[in-house]
Amino acid sequence: MTTSKNIMLLAGDGIGPEIMAEAVRVLNRVGVLYDVDFTLAEGLIGGCAYDADGTPLSDETLAIAAKSDAILLGAVGGPQWAKTAYDKRPEAGLLRLRKDLDLFANLRPAQCFEALADASSLKREFVTGLNILIVRELSSGVYFGEPRGIETLDDGSRVGLNTQRYTTHEIDRITRVAFDMARKRDSRVASAEKANVMESGLMWREDVTAIQAADYPDVALEHVLADNCAMQLVKNPKQYDVILTDNLFGDLLSDVAAMLTGSLGMLPSASLGASGPGVYEPVHGSAPDIAGQGLANPSAMILSLAMALRYSLGMGAAADKVEAAVAAALQAGFRTGDIMADGCTKVSTKGMGDAILDQLGHT
Ligand code: NAD
Repeated sequence: MTTSKNIMLLAGDGIGPEIMAEAVRVLNRVGVLYDVDFTLAEGLIGGCAYDADGTPLSDETLAIAAKSDAILLGAVGGPQWAKTAYDKRPEAGLLRLRKDLDLFANLRPAQCFEALADASSLKREFVTGLNILIVRELSSGVYFGEPRGIETLDDGSRVGLNTQRYTTHEIDRITRVAFDMARKRDSRVASAEKANVMESGLMWREDVTAIQAADYPDVALEHVLADNCAMQLVKNPKQYDVILTDNLFGDLLSDVAAMLTGSLGMLPSASLGASGPGVYEPVHGSAPDIAGQGLANPSAMILSLAMALRYSLGMGAAADKVEAAVAAALQAGFRTGDIMADGCTKVSTKGMGDAILDQLGHT
């Protein structure tokens, strides 16, 4: 029997619509291959939403998104909205989406495709076969903790203040995501904090240790100081399977890991809550410098779709197939400009979509 799924498409600004169009082609092919009826709803987010509705994410769009099974998001932002009020900026739409859906877990895989190993900043032998998953807490920590602000002291000097704060509940739920993910991979978690100098880090370490002992004895746990983790990522990244970390350290460590893979145009991400739809989006931004020219690499968007299939739509086999199709298209030598190499065939955004669809096959 045909199953049906509701997918919200928020293409956003810049190259967002171009890469989304290719992801939709792949999604439709997956629907045919796996006999799933995808009902697609399109909405505006970011600068285009502000131009149309005066807000970067309208209540109506949010309501439709919240009821969907998964949300695919392109990218938001561009220089034309740089002077827009802070709460109306394109990024404010993203933050509202994350907050309203209580997306506390950010998943960023750093996977090095064999065909792109030479594009990494590290030598090929350090990155070939690299497959790390960074699980970053997204909704708490120093980016949200109170008190915060900039104050003027009695002597006229100023103090800037942010607060690192984590509750047991917040640590518990992100830790369980990391351990659950590890069970589907190589069953190893490295938890990164600064227990040596931060009480919040010490508590994080104690809580993670207790959760592992009680509920995940089958998953190996190692604790690593976040600064050492950054060094290890550059020295020997393949030692890691899942890295569990907080909002601030995750922001930095995921960017370090991203560069090991060689290209921004290849990096997907997922943001998940306790229930409800996840948001799946490329790591890169709206690339205004190449927007509208058919130059964008749609792979990160298509790999984000693969994550949606795996984590929100219960279609793990389809996710594997899409990822394999992207790898095979690269292996066959097809490249957008951002990842072009000697001897390869340069293709447009649509051309890359065609190459991936060719590898996906037909019924
Ligand atoms: P960017 O990621 O948009 O672009 C950085 C560089 O990488 C550019 O040269 C761009 O052409 C290239 N690039 C990015 N994605 C590519 C792709 N798929 N294929 C080929 N080349 C690609 O970062 P930026 O230039 O710093 O930011 C541009 C805008 O995007 C800003 O308004 C920024 O605020 C916004 N932004 C949005 C998000 C998001 O929506 N989540 C994330 C980061 C930046």
